[in-house]
Amino acid sequence: MSDYVNVTELFGCDVFNDAVMEERLPKKVYKELKKTIEEGKELSLEVADVVAHEMKEWAIEKGATHYSHWFQPLTGVTAEKHDAFITAPKENGKVLMSFSGKELIKGESDASSFPSGGLRATFEARGYTAWDCTSPAFVRHDAAGGTLCIPTAFCSYTGEALDQKTPLLRSMEAINTQSLRLLRLFGNTTSKKVTPSVGAEQEYFLVDKEKWLQRKDLTYTGRTLFGAMPPKGQEMDDHYLGTIRQRISAYMKEVNEECWKLGVTAKTQHNEVAPAQHELAPIYAPVNIAADHNQIMMRILKKVASRHGMRCLLHEKPFAGVNGSGKHNNWSLTTDDGINLLDPGKTPHENIQFLLVLTCILKAVDTHADLLRESAADVGNDQRLGGNEAPPAVISVFLGEQLGDVLDQLISTGTATHSKKGSLLETGVKTLPDFMKDATDRNRTSPFAFTGNKFEFRMVGSRDSISECNVVLNTIAAEAFKEACDRLEAAEDFDMAVHDLIKEYAIDHQRIVFNGNGYAPEWAEEAKRRGLPNLPSMVDAIPALTTPKAVKLFEEFHVFTKTELESRAEIQYEIYAKAVNIEAKTMIDIATKQIIPAVIKYTTVLAGSINAVKAAGPIDVSVQMDLLEKCTALLKDTNSAMNRLSKVVAKVPEIPEGRERAVYCKDEVCKAMTELRTPVDELEMLVDKEMWPMPSYGDLIFEV
Ligand code: ADP
Ligand code: MG
Repeated sequence: MSDYVNVTELFGCDVFNDAVMEERLPKKVYKELKKTIEEGKELSLEVADVVAHEMKEWAIEKGATHYSHWFQPLTGVTAEKHDAFITAPKENGKVLMSFSGKELIKGESDASSFPSGGLRATFEARGYTAWDCTSPAFVRHDAAGGTLCIPTAFCSYTGEALDQKTPLLRSMEAINTQSLRLLRLFGNTTSKKVTPSVGAEQEYFLVDKEKWLQRKDLTYTGRTLFGAMPPKGQEMDDHYLGTIRQRISAYMKEVNEECWKLGVTAKTQHNEVAPAQHELAPIYAPVNIAADHNQIMMRILKKVASRHGMRCLLHEKPFAGVNGSGKHNNWSLTTDDGINLLDPGKTPHENIQFLLVLTCILKAVDTHADLLRESAADVGNDQRLGGNEAPPAVISVFLGEQLGDVLDQLISTGTATHSKKGSLLETGVKTLPDFMKDATDRNRTSPFAFTGNKFEFRMVGSRDSISECNVVLNTIAAEAFKEACDRLEAAEDFDMAVHDLIKEYAIDHQRIVFNGNGYAPEWAEEAKRRGLPNLPSMVDAIPALTTPKAVKLFEEFHVFTKTELESRAEIQYEIYAKAVNIEAKTMIDIATKQIIPAVIKYTTVLAGSINAVKAAGPIDVSVQMDLLEKCTALLKDTNSAMNRLSKVVAKVPEIPEGRERAVYCKDEVCKAMTELRTPVDELEMLVDKEMWPMPSYGDLIFEV
């Protein structure tokens, strides 16, 4: 029974959570801290000192020697700087372990090594990390020993957000304020707080470490840049939800345990559609915690993989022609007393509130479809979106048959009188059908699907932070709620006003609703007719950040200033150009040093064998000749495509940084990369496998 795991004991054992705080902190201090966490009250230094001391004692008991302000800069990964708890040695040569309130709540970090998109040109290079006490600290164990990780926000000297978390916290405040206004209008006097709840389903691939090491493209860029499709792909659908193999099961077991220790509620795991692809989903949590937990989960997935002789690929599209990986962001709005604003509810009274919330969200998504698309923009996602297995780059909302029908009734008559199943309900918009959960089928092709009591945003890339899309969702919903509340609070007849508003929003924004097949090419046409934005590439999407509409939205709710938005756009362009450049250079490297030499070797061997056979007598060597000709022709194509790519890449430094360079990379570099890949993939199908310089797709995805 050595494998026995007591999950309840294990869960959260390395987290400085509420239970630990209540047990270890003096009552008064605990109460003060709770006020800060729950109501956002400022924390005094005296209280922080006591908390820091207890946190340190607890962390040392857990084996920690260091503490670290853990933050999420705009690089897409987490960052940390480690400090040991030790103080300067005393005269007797001994050191003490110390950690003050000041060290807990504020850290200083050189911001100049993180992307700031021009912010650091105008402001000081100094950056500050500030404790986000709403997300619990934890002790992480790895090769570096135990480290007390303190979740923080990261800002510049003058307070500009340099991270993913600051705007997320700001957007949570915006949606809280406006949702409470909306609830009050419907007579709710008891709820004190509305929080976005998020469950992020994480997809990933596992490959064998030895094979991974032989693929420079995987090691440098996270995806394969060459690779012919194996004879068998995912067409049999025999991997999806299939039996999990032992090696993978052992891996998942350890991933779960590591997650649980850190309070991450790893819950659902299964095989995904593509061979070697899997998914792990936690139980939903307040969005800032969900975002932190997703980062922790990604790190654990990687760390445990290397212990098991594997590598975890979080890239959105590790293998062309095979399904990519995403992160489904399930989003709802929950009150502190357990009401989900996206739950259709049981009584007509609540249904009106639900319909208002729903139509406000339709309005929000329609108005800011470009921003929502941008929030999922990521270099890797460009390879995935619209790839006939992931949502297209057009934002639309799936409501399902039943809700879609209610919306149709609202649009055509102004009142919804019945539910789809034909059971007639009372007339009037005040009496809306009691929407059965799962009364409608799922639509896996929709980027933004209503799934019973939440929306599932399916566009986010597997490697990306979930912060960006939730910042957008929270803020655009806050704007729609605000506009609705402004009108309803001023209305003389509330019932009439709300009826009119729901109808108006339903009519004005029906174009965003699409219940059909989002993967079908006709949808792109239809979307165009409806005037919905189609932004296929990250580079096309970035301008959405700085439109007057976006600036007005984010400034109104104090989520981003114009300067912050501009800096973020700059960073995105920079990240895009750099990533494409690395990929292009990696391709050149692989082609020059591995592929071309291998093909030369193969053709030389072929030529030699032809001569040898010929020398032996009048034997037909037409097959060998044919192969030699084909390979030689493709070798020539490869060489010229490579020269072209080298030329295109050499020009990059001459193109001005920012948008211009990103556009050049998208239009010129990416094109030249595809042109190099084509002959190489054809060669892979011809050249003797023994001589091909790296593992094939088949080796990688079928032999984990
Ligand atoms: P699926 O069939 O899409 O896998 P699940 O019910 O398993 O649906 O949920 C997927 C994710 O959505 C999980 O992370 C789950 O915790 C989360 N989730 C469930 N209900 C809600 C909700 N009301 N708000 C936000 N997330 C939710
Ligand atoms: Mg799902």
